[in-house]
Amino acid sequence: MSELQRVVSEIVDEMRAREDRGEVATYISELARVDPRQFGLAVIDAEGNVAAAGDCDVPFSIQSISKVFTLTLALGKVGDRLWRRVGREPSGSPFNSIVQLERERGIPRNPFINAGAIVVTDVILSGHQPREALGEILRFMQFLGQDASITIDSAVAASEQRTGFRNRALANYMKSFDAIENTVDFVLGAYFHHCAIAMSCRQLATAGRFLAHLGRNPETGFSVVQPERARRINALMLTCGHYDGSGEFAYRVGLPGKSGVGGGIFAVAPGKASIAVWSPGLDASGNSHLGRLALEELAKRLGWSIFG
Ligand code: GLU
Repeated sequence: MSELQRVVSEIVDEMRAREDRGEVATYISELARVDPRQFGLAVIDAEGNVAAAGDCDVPFSIQSISKVFTLTLALGKVGDRLWRRVGREPSGSPFNSIVQLERERGIPRNPFINAGAIVVTDVILSGHQPREALGEILRFMQFLGQDASITIDSAVAASEQRTGFRNRALANYMKSFDAIENTVDFVLGAYFHHCAIAMSCRQLATAGRFLAHLGRNPETGFSVVQPERARRINALMLTCGHYDGSGEFAYRVGLPGKSGVGGGIFAVAPGKASIAVWSPGLDASGNSHLGRLALEELAKRLGWSIFG
């Protein structure tokens, strides 16, 4: 067994033995039904060795982790013009906060809070039918995850369509500032559906490898983005990837990462590894409680913090 696999298995055993699991998200009814005892971890190093354990092959709702990939697509479409419509500063506010939008006249703080991600989805949608835009996002995930079976959980998407009143408010409010180009319902439909993509830790760690290696999957040699863009997406994950828990995540884990309310966290150790962890119970900021602890242990035991 490799050293990396030993550490991963040890951490999974330790996390599974813990009683403190956080609370599963309940505002999306399908997520409230997920068994909180599940725990998965997958790490892929620069050579392509996979160390994985626990429920690492069980698909879960990636939710806001999809925002990293929609941001990548939107930057590919409009380049730095995206930054006229969304900022790059941490918000210090919850993921679905509406207060800053009024002061900042419909320009969301960053692409990872819900308002910012809705603008990013609007950019991808422009010039397309919702179905085409969604197909593009899903195919991108299947391509990066090297698995054509990756799909959208339509029950999760439908339950968020029913209860996503906050996101509806955010999108309509931005529309009132002309910050949304397309029909609000189409933008939200595409947003709810890309949040409902289901992937396992192994698929997610595979999909994110380009961000750990300067924009390129080191195994296939396929370049997804230029090195500079990969660095910048990582910078945004570090500063904004965990909503108002971003400072705490940087302090404790020291790796760029993006969480989702499905309990997943995707993280990169630049030059070293792509990582995905999943534990459905969340902390007060909406980030996976044990997922964060596991990443803290992983970074500590392997000396992977970007801060030395
Ligand atoms: N679809 C979720 C929402 O918009 C994503 C939030 C998250 O994963 O943090 O509320």
